[in-house]
Amino acid sequence: MSQSPKKTSLRSVARSAATDPQPTRAEAEEAVRTLLRWAGDDPTREGLIDTPKRVASAYEDWFSGYKEDPEEYLLRTFEEVEGYDDMIVLKDIRFESHCEHHLAPIIGRAHVGYLPNNKVVGISKLARVVEAYARRLQVQEKMNAQIARCIQKVLEPKGVAVVIEAAHQCMTTRGVHKQGVSMVTSSMLGEFRKNPLTRREFLSVIGNPASNFDG
Ligand SMILES: [Zn+2]
Repeated sequence: MSQSPKKTSLRSVARSAATDPQPTRAEAEEAVRTLLRWAGDDPTREGLIDTPKRVASAYEDWFSGYKEDPEEYLLRTFEEVEGYDDMIVLKDIRFESHCEHHLAPIIGRAHVGYLPNNKVVGISKLARVVEAYARRLQVQEKMNAQIARCIQKVLEPKGVAVVIEAAHQCMTTRGVHKQGVSMVTSSMLGEFRKNPLTRREFLSVIGNPASNFDG
């Protein structure tokens, strides 16, 4: 009996943290000042005086994906494609993202393919979907799956394939300091998962960044 009020208040704390309104820009800039001081520098010196403002603006750019709905980009489709039902691939979509563990940049390329089921989208829209997910805090595996699921859900194609190759600056500039390594992830849905020939065709179109996905 005496435990239940405690539980209720813990839950309400968790809920209010999740639904708190967005901090003000002044609060964000103050947070940057705190980090600068914590790093050992003086935020009032000339070179750093405008840094909090610049960082806040950079955040608006790097994390603009939270304001976007990637599914919306895929709503306008073309159905008259003269029976075209072969693979459509957009490769080498360059993106910049940030890892959710260190806020460090993740820089890479995504390759997106799908097997249309009557509905085809303008090819730039696939790049917009990648961009909308990249401009959030990410884990590469999660971003990979989100892109694939979004395309699967809205276009309802016979299959979707997404391969991402990326370098994580939290690995190259700190921690293990591994230069020149890139991580490759893939999501294969529908025909790309079921049919090794379809998968192989996609991987050969994108230049097969990881032959070990072929099997
Ligand atoms: Zn990281």
